[in-house]
Amino acid sequence: MTNHSGAFPINTCIYLQLWEARHPFFNSAGLFHRTSDEQYFDPRIMMSFGKSKIGRRIVVLVVVSVILSLITLTGLFLTFQLNDTLRTRTDGIKATGYVFASAIADDVATGNANGALKVLRSITRVPDVSYAVAVDSKGEQIAALGKSAMLVEDLVDDHIGMFELLTRGALPVTIEIVKGAEPVGRLIIVADVSGLRAQLLKTVIATLLAALVAGILGIVAAMRLQRRITAPILSLIGAMSHVRQARDYSTKVIHDADDETGTLVESFNAMITEIGYRDSALKRLAFFDPLTGLANRQSFHGQLETVLASCVDDQIKAALFLLDLDEFKSINDSYGHSAGDALLVNVAAALKHNASEHVHLARLGGDEFAIVVTGIDSEAEAQAVFAPIIQAISQPVEIMARHVQIGVTAGVTMIPRDGTTPSDLLRRADLALYSAKREGKGRMHIYRPKLDEDVQERTALAIDLRHAIRENQLEVHYQPQVNIHSGGVIGYESLLRWKHPTRGYVPPDQFIPIAESNGLICDLGQWILRQSCRQARAWLDSGFAVRQISVNISVAQIRQFNFPGQVEAILAETRLPPYILCLELTESLFAGYSAKRVKQVLEGLKGVGVSLAIDDFGTGYSSLSYLQGLPFDKLKIDRAFVSGIEEDADKRRLLTGVIDLGHALDLTIVAEGAETPGEIALLRQMQADQVQGYVFSKPLPAAQIVAATEEINCNFHERFTAPAELRKAG
Ligand code: C2E
Ligand code: CA
Ligand code: CA
Repeated sequence: MTNHSGAFPINTCIYLQLWEARHPFFNSAGLFHRTSDEQYFDPRIMMSFGKSKIGRRIVVLVVVSVILSLITLTGLFLTFQLNDTLRTRTDGIKATGYVFASAIADDVATGNANGALKVLRSITRVPDVSYAVAVDSKGEQIAALGKSAMLVEDLVDDHIGMFELLTRGALPVTIEIVKGAEPVGRLIIVADVSGLRAQLLKTVIATLLAALVAGILGIVAAMRLQRRITAPILSLIGAMSHVRQARDYSTKVIHDADDETGTLVESFNAMITEIGYRDSALKRLAFFDPLTGLANRQSFHGQLETVLASCVDDQIKAALFLLDLDEFKSINDSYGHSAGDALLVNVAAALKHNASEHVHLARLGGDEFAIVVTGIDSEAEAQAVFAPIIQAISQPVEIMARHVQIGVTAGVTMIPRDGTTPSDLLRRADLALYSAKREGKGRMHIYRPKLDEDVQERTALAIDLRHAIRENQLEVHYQPQVNIHSGGVIGYESLLRWKHPTRGYVPPDQFIPIAESNGLICDLGQWILRQSCRQARAWLDSGFAVRQISVNISVAQIRQFNFPGQVEAILAETRLPPYILCLELTESLFAGYSAKRVKQVLEGLKGVGVSLAIDDFGTGYSSLSYLQGLPFDKLKIDRAFVSGIEEDADKRRLLTGVIDLGHALDLTIVAEGAETPGEIALLRQMQADQVQGYVFSKPLPAAQIVAATEEINCNFHERFTAPAELRKAG
């Protein structure tokens, strides 16, 4: 699915498959086709007997029950038949016996053995009769004729068993001899039934033969039956172990049974298909960003590895661009996350649209995109390739019925020059991106080894800074602020100085951002606030009339819990009247904070009694409108607006405009960074109120401030008299 050429068509396919994955019944709609690499298990060709325990049990069960039922039926039939035959024979003999019994009655009653014998002779002529005996009422034998294997006692027993009957081959029948309604004896006739026994034996043999044949037929039928049942089960077992071992979810079991086994096979096939869909969806999630369909960080690493592997020497072969959307967070915040998502999808689409087959795209997370462009051999080419990409992303798009234009900042590494592993390349591109962002958004920086050094430097500084307060390495310097109309020093700005034991003075521009990024700024800020208030109190106590002391406050400090309370506590602790303290805040205060919340915080501070200055005006939003309604007292115009005004008429016009607008908002205007008397003269013409610049004094240690202040006060009129001023202004 993933190939390493262009991105757009690939991702259309991804969406389709994700959709399939979410719709398991896609298959049942008939849109799913078998592919030739599917694995089939066909029960019809599976030899199942002997492999299946169930199969063996079925065969044994069927055969045993066939034989048993045949034997039982035959036994019942024979018993019934035998009984019937014996009853018929007994009845026949009895009917004959009654005739002879009345003929013999007189002889028995009188005990005439010869007479009785005559009658018995006639009896033994009856076919099958083998023996006859006449006994009197006491059981004494009168006469007997024929051969008998039986004792008279046995003959007398009427309840002879079937088994004995057959083994002896003789059937005894007893008939009562009655004379004048009085029983006088019994006539016992024994029939020869040995023929019946032979007949019975034949029947039993025939039955056993029939049972054998039935048993064989049973085996054949049972095997067919068991195959029908067990073959699909064996196929399922085979298919399951194949799926388990090969993770091959294209496996299918073929079947044509319309019974429960068929249903079982169908369910199995459907279940495996669904598992297959889920498996591929999971795989997709592991490698692709679900929102944009671009590769995710993991698969992008893989792509980078492939690109790196294709580099055989040190020659530049490709470039990695790490992109960060400018102001994405504020779009997310103001329009909501779905708008943010829509924007990301749009950016991804713009990237795909512009991607050639040499381009790999990825979204690494949030608003961070990465691009690898292969076939590039210089930084200049990387720059040329990137320009249209930036342009495509920066096209205005409509989100929530508004036109939104998004900017991009980028960091670039050249492959393989700037890294031999994907992580190195990405980390260094990130450093370049960070450096680009620091210089202002909407630009692209190419990685330089110095960035790595800077990082190490920053890390080392960050470690040292943690000890700076404890080790007394921090100092406060004070820079006078001068009223350019009266020449009086109206106050001082406190500026941090770090006297590093080995590096010497580290400029605040270097360590303040570090302190801001690791949270130390709150401790530093509190330290300098306390130190400044203490100093101001000391000056007042010594009779040096300080009118104002200004302290820089970072956004992180302001956002601390109950910052106004902290300020109030420090003022109380140092016994400094609140009106002496001025807090300098930058425009970054407004980033990510609603105007309402900013106003609340500022009013909290005003409630303490301090004054507030907006610092570095001109470096951030540079719009005065947002200051309206906020309780600022001072506007400090950044040095960038001030320096060069002597030469640049446009700058003068701009500065005049800013000063006028500031005044319209009732703000005292402080111009920062004036370095020449000519600048002072112009600033006076423009009606700026105060100046803080090297032209009066650099920031100085507290010990030098009294002298420096006196010098400014004394020399002001001499240095900045009207004629000189006019001369300079030309
Ligand atoms: P900032 O608040 O704008 O302070 C004024 C900076 O401009 C100071 O630099 C000062 O030395 C410099 N400056 C003043 N006049 C001139 C001039 O005529 N020419 C030139 N070239 N520069 C001039 P510094 O002391 O290096 O401070 C730099 C920045 O460091 C400050 O800018 C401020 O943003 C930050 N910073 C310094 N101390 C503190 C502090 O205690 N807390 C916080 N949060 N930030 C501080
Ligand atoms: Ca300041
Ligand atoms: Ca400033």
